[in-house]
Amino acid sequence: MIAVLKRETTEKQLKDLIDWLESMNLKVHLSKGDYTTIVGLVGDTTNIDRELLESLDIVEGVKTISEPFKKANRKFHPKDSIVEVGATDGANSVKVGGGHFAVMAGPCSVENPEQIEEVAAGVKAAGASILRGGAFKPRTSPYDFQGLKDEGIQLLEHAKKMTGLPIVTEIMNPNHLPMFEHVDLIQVGARNMQNFELLKELGKIDKPILLKRGLASTLKEWLMSAEYIMAGGNENIILCERGIRTFETYTRNTLDLSAIPMLKELTHLPVIVDPSHATGMARLVKPMALAAVAAGADGLMIEVHNNPSKALCDGAQSLTPDQFAHVMKGVNGIREVME
Ligand code: PEP
Ligand code: MN
Repeated sequence: MIAVLKRETTEKQLKDLIDWLESMNLKVHLSKGDYTTIVGLVGDTTNIDRELLESLDIVEGVKTISEPFKKANRKFHPKDSIVEVGATDGANSVKVGGGHFAVMAGPCSVENPEQIEEVAAGVKAAGASILRGGAFKPRTSPYDFQGLKDEGIQLLEHAKKMTGLPIVTEIMNPNHLPMFEHVDLIQVGARNMQNFELLKELGKIDKPILLKRGLASTLKEWLMSAEYIMAGGNENIILCERGIRTFETYTRNTLDLSAIPMLKELTHLPVIVDPSHATGMARLVKPMALAAVAAGADGLMIEVHNNPSKALCDGAQSLTPDQFAHVMKGVNGIREVME
């Protein structure tokens, strides 16, 4: 349920209202816009006398939110959320959402010091603002390379020191959280989108989370996963569309571009697109990246490797730093047109 307050509401009146609502065991979520203040109520609202609330002098109107996601809901928080990445850990902080566009780029997995350093320098020179690299890899086969784990995270931290780029890497197990102390953006991969115990733990921290869409998840399921993290108190979430499984087999997945404008209606959270995992093919990355920008994405995540044919993971979809620079030119061109 939300209550939209009248513009002339004073701070004292607002405080009295919040105290009253909290006395009924409700969690109150405030969203102050330029013209209106919205009081969002989470919890069992059946005890509230809706007519009484509506009749208060300061209340413009009361609406019930029918969707099961509340904190992630645009009705709760009409303004776009801006998520700041790398604000507290020595990197150049980067904003995502609300008009701020960010490109995350780097290898599928961190392989060795030379590889991550070369790729980090290359993507930075081409205009990426966040460095990606997997340290814990969710592989379909247990016999495939599983990532360098803590050593991979240390190599990313070193690349951060070298370039100033904040780093994003995937977590698979909540027990690993101490290793992520200097990771600026924690990724939840498609395979873990509904690992609710992991999501609950990530709700307890205040680091930004990159929540990728599940392999066959609906937008509602995805937003409910964001809600799990937000319900715990962490509202710094960036959503990442990375393709979904359909009957089509030529491409690795099917990139759901309509998810971008649909999510923009449903939620205030920033939405980025990963055209690499969505298509599985390096030559399809550029057209899909440009289409994502045109559809309103707040950023991109792109796999880049210094030697794709030798990559330990996802070489076929990885761009060289030069190819990535070419994509960035196109992205900047579309962004100019959009403005
Ligand atoms: C990744 O980004 O490294 C990854 C494994 O992607 P996804 O979870 O989208 O498959
Ligand atoms: Mn990959």
